[in-house]
Amino acid sequence: MVQNQLRARGVKDRKVLDVMRKIPRHEFVPENMKSYAYQDEPLPIGEGQTISQPYIVAYMTEVLALKGAEKVLEIGTGSGYQAAILAELVKEVFTVEVISPLSVKAQEVLKKLGYKNIYFKIGDGTLGWEENAPYDAVMVTAAPAKVPKALQEQLEIPGRMVIPVGSTFQELVLVKREMKKFKKRKLLPVRFVPLISKH
Ligand code: SAH
Repeated sequence: MVQNQLRARGVKDRKVLDVMRKIPRHEFVPENMKSYAYQDEPLPIGEGQTISQPYIVAYMTEVLALKGAEKVLEIGTGSGYQAAILAELVKEVFTVEVISPLSVKAQEVLKKLGYKNIYFKIGDGTLGWEENAPYDAVMVTAAPAKVPKALQEQLEIPGRMVIPVGSTFQELVLVKREMKKFKKRKLLPVRFVPLISKH
C-alpha cells in the first residue's frame, strides 16, 4: 500500500509514510471488508459512511505539515483510522462524530490499540469543539457546502485546516490562518460523504 499507492502518487513525508505502514487499517473496517483493507479505495463502515481511501488519508495528513507538538481537531471520527494516524504524529487529537454508534465503535478499536491521546465527542462537528480550542490544525473528513466559521475561528494563529468543500463537485481546500488573515488554496478534486448539519 505504502509503496504502490502512496509513494507512487507523490506522498513524500517520511513520518506520514511510516505511520501508514505501521497502523493496521484492517482493524478499522468491518469483518467482511478486511480482505480489501489495503487497497486504495474508500470502504463502507456502516451507517452509510466510509473510511477514506489511504491515499487521501496520507495526502491530507501530509498537507497539515505536522511537527509533533500539535493539538489537532478532526471532524468525522468515522472508523477512527485517521484519528490513529494523527495520534501517532502529534500530541493530542480531538475528534468529533455525529453518528453515535460509529464513535462508540471507533473508541473501542482505538482503546484496544492502546491510544491515550485521542479525545472523543459525539455531536455536530460543524461547530468544532470550542472547549479545547484553539487547534494548531483541523482536519475535516466530511464535506460541507462551505468552510464552517466556527472551525476557522477555532484555529490557532498560525494554524492550518484541510477540508473538502462543495456539494456535487468537491475540492480539497487548505485554509491557512496567519495573523488576522485566512488564506485559502484549492488542492485537488475529491469525493467525500456530506457533512450532516443543521448549521
Ligand atoms: N475520518 C474517518 C472518515 C469518516 S467519513 C475515518 O478515518 O474513518 C466521514 C464521517 O463524518 C462519517 O463518520 C460521518 O458520520 C461523519 N460526519 C458527518 N457529518 C458530521 C458532522 N456534522 N459532525 C461530525 N461528524 C460528521
